[in-house]
Amino acid sequence: MSDYPQRVTDSFNERKRLIRLRRKKENLRFWEEFRIIPRWLMALVAILYVLALVIAITVNLAASRNGNDMFPPDLRDNPALASLALAGLVTAASLGLAIMIFFLAYVNRDASRRGMSAALWTILVIILLPAWGFIGFVIYFLMREPLPYPCPQCGNTVGARFNFCPNCKCNLHPSCSQCKREVAETDKFCPNCGNDLKMSSSAVEISAQRSVE
Ligand SMILES: [Zn+2]
Ligand SMILES: [Zn+2]
Repeated sequence: MSDYPQRVTDSFNERKRLIRLRRKKENLRFWEEFRIIPRWLMALVAILYVLALVIAITVNLAASRNGNDMFPPDLRDNPALASLALAGLVTAASLGLAIMIFFLAYVNRDASRRGMSAALWTILVIILLPAWGFIGFVIYFLMREPLPYPCPQCGNTVGARFNFCPNCKCNLHPSCSQCKREVAETDKFCPNCGNDLKMSSSAVEISAQRSVE
């Protein structure tokens, strides 16, 4: 009775270790990740940026002809410099906005790629954005499920939550034959009791039975 919370903590730690292991294998690279953001969205953001630039400069030049533009008098005499300064301001603002939009698009695509609820996570991140800034993204990156990965036996793509490969019935969550704790398929020895996992060939069968329970 008293050791129940302890066992829950243990299995939670085991699960975390396996998720970390799986994540490390994902080996994500920034530019490859960037590519999951849809092309049309990048084009749209670029078009909007150019549009904002053109509108801002046109409006400011028109205003400066009437003598009421947004810049101090010494810049007013130099429309080229004023336009350049304005372009800088618009670029800075657009850059911040674009980063936000790309992050949202990434969360949306990445969540659906990982079999998570894309709509739910996108909405959550948007809701947190005004008050908490990027905390929604941080929560997402901490909570996200591992990517689907190839089955260690047949190479068929399996989800991170699968217990068995649907193609070859390979046990995807093998456990130690001695202490019955879950181990990663790459472990040579059990991290809990030190049992030699390669020696006990029956481990797969035993863990298969355990997973069914
Ligand atoms: Zn398989
Ligand atoms: Zn063990």
